[in-house]
Amino acid sequence: AKNAGRNTVRFFDPAMQLAASARAEMEVDLRKALQEEQLVLYYQPVVTANGAITGVEALVRWMHPVKGMVSPGEFIPLAEQTGLILPLGQWVLEAACAQLVAWSADPHTQRLSVAVNVSARQFRHPDFSTHILDLLRTTGANPYRLKLELTESLLLTDFEEAVLKMSELRSIGVSFSLDDFGTGYSSLAYLKRLPLDQLKIDQSFVRDVLTDPNDAAIARTILSLAKSMDLGVVAEGVETAGQRDFLLAAGCHAFQGYFFGRPVPVEQLQLRPL
Ligand code: C2E
Ligand code: CA
Ligand code: CA
Ligand code: CA
Repeated sequence: AKNAGRNTVRFFDPAMQLAASARAEMEVDLRKALQEEQLVLYYQPVVTANGAITGVEALVRWMHPVKGMVSPGEFIPLAEQTGLILPLGQWVLEAACAQLVAWSADPHTQRLSVAVNVSARQFRHPDFSTHILDLLRTTGANPYRLKLELTESLLLTDFEEAVLKMSELRSIGVSFSLDDFGTGYSSLAYLKRLPLDQLKIDQSFVRDVLTDPNDAAIARTILSLAKSMDLGVVAEGVETAGQRDFLLAAGCHAFQGYFFGRPVPVEQLQLRPL
């Protein structure tokens, strides 16, 4: 009852009103951002233990004319709520495919993969697979270089439908990663039935992997699970050599994090060859 009372008070809080109008303003701005090309893809390298780049993750940024660079944590949830995630997600996929095509001409870059984050609403759209197939066909991007990152909660809402969509795209070469792995609720039985290629160890387990025995145990468990299921693993949020060394010793061979490189515009990527 105490909680309910608190919620009722918060509902009429003027600060909430302000938040609502700020959100409405952001929605208008975001619509404009899509029309006026204020979105940019940043790329973070995915590397081997010695730092050689094997691919990148595309991370969207909004170059707001007044606010400057806005991070996706601030506008992706709003885009999800409003449905703007559909055109936004399509824009991200188009830009990522264009990058793959640009890289395909050069032997130094033609083997790089690009991982794209897919939101729940985007993935659940009935034409999701068709849109990707069309995009690959019209851009000429190599499907084997495109990775799609999905989250557990997204997959569990309509499991059978998700399996169908993934299988269809995998049959032409697109691969799938389970993002933020370990933070969701998927059972091992479900995991086994998903047509996945890779798990991404969530950065919350990597952060304290050297000092928190629970996180160390979780990281090890994910790595051995992945091995037994024949899945690749990328450790996210690797910020120190110590974390890298621990994960490497535990059997991890792909890394992402500030230790190796922050997300940057494509011109600033350090394309150290394998
Ligand atoms: P994510 O997919 O889990 O992406 C990883 C996030 O961790 C990125 O934040 C990245 O900049 C950050 N990161 C990478 N290495 C490190 C590290 O060593 N330490 C720390 N502390 N952080 C690190 P970012 O770019 O702000 O993106 C946040 C989230 O927004 C992403 O989380 C993803 O869920 C979402 N997102 C980003 N781009 C897109 C997109 O194009 N479409 C959709 N649907 N979601 C996106
Ligand atoms: Ca991701
Ligand atoms: Ca992640
Ligand atoms: Ca995340």
